[in-house]
Amino acid sequence: MDRIISVAIDGPAAAGKSTVAKKVASILNFTYIDTGAMYRAFTNAVIKKGYDPKNEALSCSLIPGMDIELKEDGRVLCNGEDVTKVIREPLVSGNVSYIASYKGIRLALVEMQRKMAASKSVVMDGRDIGTYVLPNANVKIYQIASVETRAVRRYEENLAKGIPTTLEEVAEDVRKRDYIDSHREFAPLKPAVDSVLIDTSYMSVNQAVDAVLKVIHDKTGLEIPCH
Ligand code: C5P
Repeated sequence: MDRIISVAIDGPAAAGKSTVAKKVASILNFTYIDTGAMYRAFTNAVIKKGYDPKNEALSCSLIPGMDIELKEDGRVLCNGEDVTKVIREPLVSGNVSYIASYKGIRLALVEMQRKMAASKSVVMDGRDIGTYVLPNANVKIYQIASVETRAVRRYEENLAKGIPTTLEEVAEDVRKRDYIDSHREFAPLKPAVDSVLIDTSYMSVNQAVDAVLKVIHDKTGLEIPCH
C-alpha cells in the first residue's frame, strides 16, 4: 500500500492557499480538504437560522447534528443542502471569523477534519492545520502574500464569480479576518515552528505550486509526477 502523506498549508486570508493546494493535490493524486469552507458552511447555517454569529451560545447550539460534507468535485453540502456558492458571499466572509473563534465549533469541525485525513494522503488548507489539526503532518507550509496582493487577487476572484464587492471592501474584510483569526484564544493563525514559509506576492500560481511541490519532495522524498 502507498505511504500516507499529509500536507498542511496555512496562512492569512486570500493568500492563494486553496488555488495552490487544489493544484498540488491534483498533481499528486491526493485529496484536497478546504477547512475554511467548513467554517463558512457553519456560519451560513447560523445566519440562515436567524441567529447573530456574534452570539456564541446561540451559534454553538447548532453543533449537534451539524453535518458538513466536502465532495470530491468541490461541492460543499451542509445538512444535505448545496451551499458551495453562498458561502463565498460577503455576508458569510464578514462573519466567519466570529464563528471560527468559538472553541466548541472548532473542536467539532477539527474532529471531522482529522477523520477525513486519517486514512488517505491529503493536502489540507486553513489556519491551524500545522499547529493543531495535523501536528504530525509530513509537510507544513505557511503561505503568505502582501495584504495589497491578497486583496486584489480576492477582488478579481469575486468579479469572476459574479460576487459584487469593491477592492476597498475586500481589503477591509481580509484585514479584519486576519486580525480576529490571529488574536483568538484557541488555535489562532500562526506559523507552525516546523513550517516552511512561502511568500507568493511575486509568484504566479504555477511558481507557487512548484515551490510547494519542491518542499514536499525535499521533506518526503516523494517523486513529483510531470505536470
Ligand atoms: O480559508 P478561508 O478564507 O475560506 O477561511 C474562512 C475563515 O474560516 C477564516 O478567515 C477563519 O476565520 C476560518 N478558518 C479557521 N481555521 C481554519 C480554516 C478557516 O479559523 N482551519
